[in-house]
Amino acid sequence: MKNSELIFIPSPGIGHLVSALEFAKRVIDYDSRISFTILCIKFPFTAFSNSYIKSVLASQPRIRLIDLPEVDPPPPEPLKPPVYLIYVFTERLIPHKRQIDDEFKDSGPELLIPGFSNLVPPKYAIDDILKDEKVPPIYTVGPLIELKGQPNSNLDQAQHVKTMKWLDDQPPSSVVFLCFGSMGILSPSQTRELAEGLKNSGVRFLWAMRSPPTKDHADRTLTEGFLESTHDNGMICGWAPQVGVLAHKSIVGFVSHCGWNSIMESLWFGVPILRWPIYAEQQLNAFRMVREFGLAVELILDYRSDGDLVLADEIERGITQLTDRDSEVRKKVQEMKEKARKAVSSGGSSFISTGRLIEDIIDRNI
Ligand code: UDP
Repeated sequence: MKNSELIFIPSPGIGHLVSALEFAKRVIDYDSRISFTILCIKFPFTAFSNSYIKSVLASQPRIRLIDLPEVDPPPPEPLKPPVYLIYVFTERLIPHKRQIDDEFKDSGPELLIPGFSNLVPPKYAIDDILKDEKVPPIYTVGPLIELKGQPNSNLDQAQHVKTMKWLDDQPPSSVVFLCFGSMGILSPSQTRELAEGLKNSGVRFLWAMRSPPTKDHADRTLTEGFLESTHDNGMICGWAPQVGVLAHKSIVGFVSHCGWNSIMESLWFGVPILRWPIYAEQQLNAFRMVREFGLAVELILDYRSDGDLVLADEIERGITQLTDRDSEVRKKVQEMKEKARKAVSSGGSSFISTGRLIEDIIDRNI
């Protein structure tokens, strides 16, 4: 019996690390000949999850994690998109990868991979892909969701309890959840429009409102004033236990930036999305969700009015459509929920695909 070791280098950001770890766990459950080394890049701008990582490592001896050295974050540049910061940050990190050379000295001849300043050990599946010009094999293995706990030790336990307790007190299928990912921060003017739209829609809401780093007095006044005017209708939290929230029976819809994890989590629990892409591949995800799959409600950005500001009226319209109990989108999302669960269970398409990937890895290693 041959053993294989895979090395994962997830992009910085909790969303990438969690899906890498969840996939590693799934592969090991399937075939214990495979082990994993995960190079972990801690990204200073977003919440991290030491408790989640510790619990995975404690329960999975076949996963080891190497923390790459922490580097100073680039200075904030409010006019640049978050992806730019990630790029600069990753560039700063590349020279420090030399410090882990020792870990791989017995791994055999090394490959030069574009984007890496160091030679990379070749003994993993990407080997064949790099040698061949043809399209690499694609294994569809999702969705990969961390369902057990909240993947964030920064989430204050008391706040977690408070949030879930508040949801418990709401009627079934009545609350709209708003969250724009681990980095999704809205401008003060956009926050104002959203607050206005939410208030006018009269819907109950839970809003994971991330404050910009330069949070000033005016923003605080806005939040306080908004909360006062919506009374018991809503709750604002900084970081939400998103998976637990989406699983809660009180949730009727999700206003989301369409990060891939958020889409998967939402479909897993059958919660329709009002799409609000902000940056990176979110635009494409949002487009596919609405136009190709009919799995999300469209929010129209008015480019003429003020940049890509979404106005309160449009937000109100979108939320009203999102909460429609009989919509086609809701029906389709329910169907997708069933399909997602089938895909990862024994005999499902993702289950079979994972098996195929493992066979290919083991075969190529012989
Ligand atoms: N998340 C969370 N609470 C928050 C914000 C985000 O639990 O307040 C989690 C969310 O459940 C998801 C991940 O962080 O698993 C965000 O990943 P996604 O791909 O949706 O967006 P990104 O953060 O990469 O933009």
